[in-house]
Amino acid sequence: MNSGILKAMIFSFKRYTVHDGPGIRQTVFFKGCPLSCWWCHNPESQDVKTEAAIRENVLDGLSFRQEETIGKVMSVQQVMHEIEKDSIFYDESGGGVTFSGGEPLMQHKFLIELLGGCKDSGIHSAVDTSGFANTTIFKQVAEKTDLFLYDLKLIDGTEHKKYTGVPNKLILQNLKYLNQAQKNVIIRFPVIPHITDTAENIILIKGFLLSLENIRKISLLPYHNIANYKYEKIKMSNKMKAVKAIPKQDLTALKKEFEDIGFKVSIGN
Ligand code: SF4
Repeated sequence: MNSGILKAMIFSFKRYTVHDGPGIRQTVFFKGCPLSCWWCHNPESQDVKTEAAIRENVLDGLSFRQEETIGKVMSVQQVMHEIEKDSIFYDESGGGVTFSGGEPLMQHKFLIELLGGCKDSGIHSAVDTSGFANTTIFKQVAEKTDLFLYDLKLIDGTEHKKYTGVPNKLILQNLKYLNQAQKNVIIRFPVIPHITDTAENIILIKGFLLSLENIRKISLLPYHNIANYKYEKIKMSNKMKAVKAIPKQDLTALKKEFEDIGFKVSIGN
């Protein structure tokens, strides 16, 4: 494949992150996601096209409107150049790069090229994914990925479709594949009030995960509403606007529930 002609829509790079995998990392955010989760904290990542956003600032009583464009078309070489800027930090901290979004597998050819580039440069790679992708493509990505940060939201298919816009058959299937292939996986469970944190869903999540004997790490992500301003910025409707954030300490009992059945649990990363 000629990576010189491959392009992808990227919307952000976050340097020196410590919550998206081991060590000090750089997170690359792909734009575009086939899901539309009610609680999405990166709503600007959902549309694969560039979009305009308005930022309003007040300074000394005067208000300023600033327009910005979210999303930029980039080549593999340009993205690798950004990633390699922090190689010294990856080496010293046991870190690397995390591909997030949006859904990075939506632009899978580009992602696979980047993962190959990371392998060639000895950079640890993590893919933060919803798992919603064709299984053949998913396996190609898995071959080159060191760590998956894998979202698991709702086990009931009808509920999943209602709150994310897509069914979960592929998501569960791809996670079963990662388990069979003994890949390195950390489950990310967004704890969303009255949606994913119901007793029924937690029983189903625990049962499903216990059937995957090689996956025993889970991160509980408490719902937060700090993304509310982003919905306003891009003029997108926000179904969760009035929902209160869950303080981290409120997840202590849930953490223990997972620990009691043999999981290594973290909260908030
Ligand atoms: S999968 Fe992630 S990026 Fe996509 S809509 Fe859901 S929360 Fe947002």
